[in-house]
Amino acid sequence: MTQEVLILPGDGIGPEITAEAVKVLEALKQNDNLDITMTHDLVGGAAYDAHGVPLAEETLEKAKQSDAILLGAVGGYQWESLDISVRPEKGLLALRSNLELFANLRPAYLFPQLADASTLKPEVVAGLDILIVRELTGGIYFGQPRGIRTLENGERQGYNTYVYSESEIKRIAHVAFEAAMKRNKKLCSVDKANVLEVTEMWREIVDEVAKEYPEVEVQHMYVDNAAMQLVLNPKQFDVMVTGNMFGDILSDEASMLTGSIGMLASASLDANNKGMYEPSHGSAPDIAGQNIANPLATILSAAMMLRYSLNREDLALKIEAAVSKVLDQGLRTGDIWSEGLTKVSTSEMGDAVVASL
Ligand code: NAD
Repeated sequence: MTQEVLILPGDGIGPEITAEAVKVLEALKQNDNLDITMTHDLVGGAAYDAHGVPLAEETLEKAKQSDAILLGAVGGYQWESLDISVRPEKGLLALRSNLELFANLRPAYLFPQLADASTLKPEVVAGLDILIVRELTGGIYFGQPRGIRTLENGERQGYNTYVYSESEIKRIAHVAFEAAMKRNKKLCSVDKANVLEVTEMWREIVDEVAKEYPEVEVQHMYVDNAAMQLVLNPKQFDVMVTGNMFGDILSDEASMLTGSIGMLASASLDANNKGMYEPSHGSAPDIAGQNIANPLATILSAAMMLRYSLNREDLALKIEAAVSKVLDQGLRTGDIWSEGLTKVSTSEMGDAVVASL
């Protein structure tokens, strides 16, 4: 049956990088029996300019109807002064919460060809392959009450609430254990159980769920230590699972171990593996419109989409092999380029991946 993919290019470099991923998907449609239709729509600042909101109702409806969503990135200088309720990022948050995309999977995988691109010593990062599973729809980013209030003494006070219910922790723990079962059967759960009650309960529930996965070796680590261990000895990790805010920070840290944020894909899944796929980086307004952005994170996000939502592991592997081949050929966009290698544009990189498929 034909599966529906909604393409939301977004802002900044978003349209340039998603165009390259679409090229790759078109090639698979033509040559490898990939049975999908692709519909394009607006999100973020582009949607605000057209409709006055960062995510139109019709777009949300299309997202709900589709089998998977491939998104570029949102945001840019021109929308920064807008009221927070209509800023581009709200479009993303609305998609995540309305589609109940509670599980964010961010692989930090270092292609061996790029070991020199990391700021860490090659021997520390060569062979790095971590999967960070971040809870995406709960925790302090969504907890109520929140706001800025004025105290009796006239001083303003900002406040947010860090909450997780048992069921929210259980379902993200299951996603992480399932992922660990498919990998090296090692799971590190990250919390701050020595200070925060909510993560003390997180730790208890992860241990409960662990009983259902006796083959997985479980470790608990405080977030401050995890941040340190990620740069000290990142290869000790296989799958890491954590809440929304810690995951936000640790996954960005892990991404830099691999040298470039331009290489890192991500998936956000609901309970049925329907998902939204996007590069881990933002809209990079500083380089937008110049055809120099690295499209590989978006192309690798399309590979994740084939793996998790469209049930085409074969084509996911095919894309990943094509990317590896292009790197073997010495082709690099500016962010991963160094002396002696061939610098290519966004579209040349996309063409090279298509040629290597
Ligand atoms: P960013 O990830 O957009 O850029 C950080 C740096 O990395 C920049 O120097 C940029 O040029 C570079 N970079 C990013 N992606 C690249 C690529 N594919 N190829 C080459 N270089 C790349 O983060 P930022 O500058 O903090 O944010 C810019 C805008 O993006 C802001 O409006 C922010 O709100 C938004 N943002 C969106 C998302 C998202 O859509 N998921 C995530 C983060 C930030």
